[in-house]
Amino acid sequence: MAAIIIDGKEIAKKTKSEIVGQVQEMKTQGMTPGLAVILVGDNQASRTYVNSKQKTARELGMHNVLIEYPESITEQELLAKIDELNNDENIHGILVQLPLPGHINETHLIEAISPDKDVDGFHPINIGRMMTGQDAFLPCTPFGVMVMMKEMEIDLAGKHVVVVGRSNIVGKPAGQLFLNKNATVTYCHSKTKDLKEHTRQADVVVAAVGKAGLITADHIKPGAVVIDVGMNRDVEGKLCGDVAYAEVKEKAGYITPVPGGVGPMTIAMLMYNTLKSAKNHLSKLQNSNL
Ligand code: NDP
Repeated sequence: MAAIIIDGKEIAKKTKSEIVGQVQEMKTQGMTPGLAVILVGDNQASRTYVNSKQKTARELGMHNVLIEYPESITEQELLAKIDELNNDENIHGILVQLPLPGHINETHLIEAISPDKDVDGFHPINIGRMMTGQDAFLPCTPFGVMVMMKEMEIDLAGKHVVVVGRSNIVGKPAGQLFLNKNATVTYCHSKTKDLKEHTRQADVVVAAVGKAGLITADHIKPGAVVIDVGMNRDVEGKLCGDVAYAEVKEKAGYITPVPGGVGPMTIAMLMYNTLKSAKNHLSKLQNSNL
């Protein structure tokens, strides 16, 4: 039987419709959630992502600022801009679009962003909070995956989740969030011997690698949930994931398509985090007026 398609576009739409109402509500209290995006250089893919984030922020009624720099910008100049944004009352979320040119140290920039405005959820403070189960800004892509699980009412307690990929921004936090939901988690990566042996045992497979067609029907247990985070171009230049969608969807229980799966959720969760940051700011102001 063909898998149930997890429609990321629809779930993202629902999430955004909840956010837009809350943005309007905040505006009546004199505050507009504000997002600042820093874009360095002329990477076409980065520009597309940034445009999409800005468009969504505008649609949701948020204040949004794009700060663009040429590739020749220095790390010091970027750090000074982040410092300025950390102190800007109208900005609640700061995002540095990755990747950055080689002469700039990503870690220095991420760590310079105030953890209270780190709406990407990449700052070590937020990662530490997530790991210890405290309130945190969760990294948008894995957060979006968890919202999809919730919307589809997929029970995770005791389930075996195999995450393929262990990057700091997707694979590692995804595994942690599943663990927080009481799943048993296995991580696979480029040094894993016999990937199939692991993925075939999984109730849930999360593919976050960046290799088109890596996960085939042979990797999947019948009825498993398959989450495809990958964003690749196929030989015809069309967007595709890490999963051989046509064959896997005949065997899986649930599957996310690419496009229209995890991608739209990532942006929706960025907006959610920006709203959350603005709400935190508002309640701090209100408490200081008590
Ligand atoms: P990275 O390149 O940082 O990480 C890729 C991971 O895959 C690494 O951990 C690597 O292992 C592992 N890997 C590579 N080859 C294999 C293999 N043959 N078998 C098993 N594991 C392997 O990528 P990201 O995590 O940043 O992104 C992953 C994918 O998700 C990309 O396609 C990216 O475009 C996409 N993406 C999609 C988003 C969305 O919104 N949908 C958002 C962010 C990313 P090792 O650690 O050993 O090198």
